[in-house]
Amino acid sequence: MNLPTDPAAWLDRAPLRGRLLIDGAWREAADGRTRERRSPAHDHLVAVYAEGGVADAQAAIAAARRAFDHGPWPRMKGAERARLLRAVAEAILARRHDIATQETLETGKPLAQSLAEVDGAADLWHYAASLARNLCGDSYNTLGEATLGVVLREPIGVVGIITPWNFPFLIVSQKLPFALAAGCTTVVKPSEVTAGSTLLLGDIVQAAGLPAGVVNIVVGTGPVVGEVLVSHPEVDMLSFTGSTAVGKQAVAKAAPTLKKVVLELGGKNPQIVFADCRDSALWQAAVDATVYGVCFNAGQCCNSGSRVLVQASIAEDFTAAVVERIQRVKVGDPLQPGTQVGAITTDRQLATILGHIDAARRDGAVIALGGARIDRVGMYVEPTVVSGVRPEMAIAREEVFGPVLAVLPFNDLDHAIALANGTLYGLSAAVWSGDFSTCLQAARRIRAGTVWVNTFLEGHAELPFGGCRESGIGRELGRGATEDYTETKTLHMHLGPRTDWYV
Ligand code: NAD
Repeated sequence: MNLPTDPAAWLDRAPLRGRLLIDGAWREAADGRTRERRSPAHDHLVAVYAEGGVADAQAAIAAARRAFDHGPWPRMKGAERARLLRAVAEAILARRHDIATQETLETGKPLAQSLAEVDGAADLWHYAASLARNLCGDSYNTLGEATLGVVLREPIGVVGIITPWNFPFLIVSQKLPFALAAGCTTVVKPSEVTAGSTLLLGDIVQAAGLPAGVVNIVVGTGPVVGEVLVSHPEVDMLSFTGSTAVGKQAVAKAAPTLKKVVLELGGKNPQIVFADCRDSALWQAAVDATVYGVCFNAGQCCNSGSRVLVQASIAEDFTAAVVERIQRVKVGDPLQPGTQVGAITTDRQLATILGHIDAARRDGAVIALGGARIDRVGMYVEPTVVSGVRPEMAIAREEVFGPVLAVLPFNDLDHAIALANGTLYGLSAAVWSGDFSTCLQAARRIRAGTVWVNTFLEGHAELPFGGCRESGIGRELGRGATEDYTETKTLHMHLGPRTDWYV
């Protein structure tokens, strides 16, 4: 794709025309239905996708089933699967501008951020390729002369992958290459509002030469296409990222088939700042990470640092420093260089964010900064700081999914841990202190899948990611990432004559 030099002119290009990828071919929806996507930052038409229905979802599942039961993919050498995954990774990098531009146009996130996410996604495909050659089972040579035990790892089968609208390309890349590395076949249902980059990935996967039916992509709504994937008996595993509410429904609807379900859900992630940060370089770092933590992706991030717990003796100064710093964040057109916070991705999410801010006001919290929609074309919200927050208020407990920070004071370590663990979520947290012992004590007591120490929102393919409690079930990434898409099979082998049971 040739991009014009003026980013604003990118809006003039023809909208992406997306179809469904089923059994190695791009198709229109069986009933001919389409769905339009307008850029949330500019209100321009940026994509028209075929919108799949039940028949399309069923056709995709049947294709994935055939590819698994009879096709070459699960039977291929790990080295060969790794070669194809690496080819996908390289092709992603070759088309990074193309993918990132579409991502920005559909989500409203800054272009530089989209580029970084596409690069990060390519790294995940490379990492999965390395795991494809290392997947192995186990053996037991300790069971006596007459027995040899071998534990095989086999791909679990057809995997249904459902992704949300906030990090479409990155999240599909946290799942798909690992499922493929294990030898599974897949049906991917991206969010119906930001499906474009996943469809571009479909192009890449096709061009790389993956066999037909191994990757199927069906754009469609959750209650239609999503529910078919969740409840279908021929789907062996569901990997879902989205809201806690829909995740719970998915568990219930998957239950009759007893398929394996892995869930990455919401969070209300605390950053805990201890008073000793006041007198060191950690002060500036914690202020910056607090602003970054809540503004990144306009707060539409499962890992958003939406609560900051600050030791009471520094709470006033810290809040003032955050308010001062957050005012300098550049909110605006995501296509313009230098923009740090772009648009809110959906009108529904915009209403949700503003509703949470109103509720905080009504509950008696203080809007220390921001609190309103920005008056311009597109959907933008002012970075918002809410102080005077009590733990029982909704703003302290519920996921806002917007650039809205709740500040809560604490007295000592025990109090901080009680606040940190005081919601139903358990995705991530951060601890800020120059005292090693404080950091580690806090980190060990926080109930969360990830705890950052003196940093926030960093990630590596090697490190497992996921949540506990209502933030999810299971982990992605890390060296066990491909194992999640496998079943073990025990080979119990008897050597030599067997002693009869019936004597
Ligand atoms: P959502 O739950 O509304 O939708 C997620 C996906 O599920 C979409 O593809 C949607 O179409 C589909 N879906 C909706 N209803 C369905 C149904 N009945 N059956 C099957 N599928 C259905 O979430 P969202 O609004 O797209 O994303 C925001 C949420 O995702 C937030 O709560 C956020 O915290 C969470 N999230 C979590 C992580 C993580 O890794 N933990 C990452 C990103 C987002």
